[in-house]
Amino acid sequence: MGDHTAELETKRAKVTRPDAALSSSSPPPSSSWSPSSWRTKHIAHQPRYEDVKHLSQVTDQLKSLPPIVQPEEVDDLKRYLGEVAAGKRFILQGGDCAERFVDCRQDRIEAKVKIMLQMSLVLVWGARVPLVRIGRMAGQFMKPRSSDTEVVDGKTVETYKGDSINAFDPADRKPDPERLLKAYFFASTTMNYVRGLMSCGFADLHHPSAWDLSFVRNTDKQRNYREMTERICHALDFMQACGFRDDPSMRQAQLFSSHEGLLLPFEEAMTTTVASEQGGPSRHYNLGAHFLWIGDRTRQLDGAHVEYFRGITNPIGIKVGPTTDPSELVQLIQRLSPSNEPGRITLITRFGVDKVKALLPPVIRAVQGAGLTVVWECDPMHGNTRKVEGSGIKTRSFEDVLNELLHTFDVHAEQGTWLGGVHFEMTGDDVTECTGGSVGVSDDDLSTRYESFCDPRLNYTQSLEMAFLIAKRLSR
Ligand code: PEP
Ligand code: MN
Repeated sequence: MGDHTAELETKRAKVTRPDAALSSSSPPPSSSWSPSSWRTKHIAHQPRYEDVKHLSQVTDQLKSLPPIVQPEEVDDLKRYLGEVAAGKRFILQGGDCAERFVDCRQDRIEAKVKIMLQMSLVLVWGARVPLVRIGRMAGQFMKPRSSDTEVVDGKTVETYKGDSINAFDPADRKPDPERLLKAYFFASTTMNYVRGLMSCGFADLHHPSAWDLSFVRNTDKQRNYREMTERICHALDFMQACGFRDDPSMRQAQLFSSHEGLLLPFEEAMTTTVASEQGGPSRHYNLGAHFLWIGDRTRQLDGAHVEYFRGITNPIGIKVGPTTDPSELVQLIQRLSPSNEPGRITLITRFGVDKVKALLPPVIRAVQGAGLTVVWECDPMHGNTRKVEGSGIKTRSFEDVLNELLHTFDVHAEQGTWLGGVHFEMTGDDVTECTGGSVGVSDDDLSTRYESFCDPRLNYTQSLEMAFLIAKRLSR
């Protein structure tokens, strides 16, 4: 550390913005917070680096590199999420469970962006409100694991913790700090290409008239989806005729980035102090991504993750699962959002199809009862993972995922709250990781093209079909 670090910290602190350009509603955190104050707290789910000096050299270098996103974009997203909280927008958040460095390729990125755009078009049509698109993309490289070690071919090895920490290859599982630099560069490259695609009319190439629905074998369903695409086509043609689609705001779709904020030395290095030009208070932004979430395993009230998250200005997510105590959740939200700023907190519920009807209502009642403003989002993936008997392959059934979502819509309707978004592990590629859907992947098909290094994702056709079914529910 020493003088060199101080110099780097000064570099980060130099970023200034006019007051008007920055979020004004949330006050900066109390003075006892700093980007490194989490270091005094207990921290869960961190890899053990053998060479901590090497780690701090890498994080110093990360501090000197430019941000991946801009504070104004982060503020825009928070404002949009405030509109979601008010029932005026809907979120599609999705992407890989764990991004892989090898997938930082033109075709893979385009496939992800394409499915996000197609799904969001279907959802806008169903929800009749604008969409907010957030990718689990451009930085989703670190994973909490239920166990630190596993046995592979009779040998005990450290578990794979994401490409930014160690390799999937069991022979190369030692955490390596250099991987954090790679993660930064892969995230930046991905974000750069996504920005290019979004601003250059890529969205226009995906007119629904060109969508191939031949994967839907059931003829009634196929007719139903075709009718929906025809209606969407008519709506787009109408907008074209009115000249709306020539408006730059229509052609330049936005895709925000997000990841689980897990590895705090990395997140600390991505934290920038943004000073105001006119003497307003400085704010701390994590400019490694627009949106970060706290995982189900790291949301301890007195833990390091909550300490770190309370000080950043970004909109943040909290995963809420079967082990979440509603009154503790209320305290957690109050700690992370003392000013109750709309758009600051998104609760990402992931109970599982069998539990959601019993466990979601008390959570909604506690949050509503405390007068807290949150965005409600459903992650129907993480509560529905199962292992196939015999092979032990991890999978999820399309039907369980869909049914958790439908139950979540019902519960919110009963409680008078707006389910503001959906969160999927999905990909634009033709993988076989989740079973079911019209394409009919069975347990036996899973090994055909199972690529995920971590949790199973909906493939291209399962994702598109999911969007049709949600749109149908939204348009009721
Ligand atoms: C995830 O989103 O990949 C994840 C690990 O989820 P959770 O924290 O909800 O288990
Ligand atoms: Mn996952």
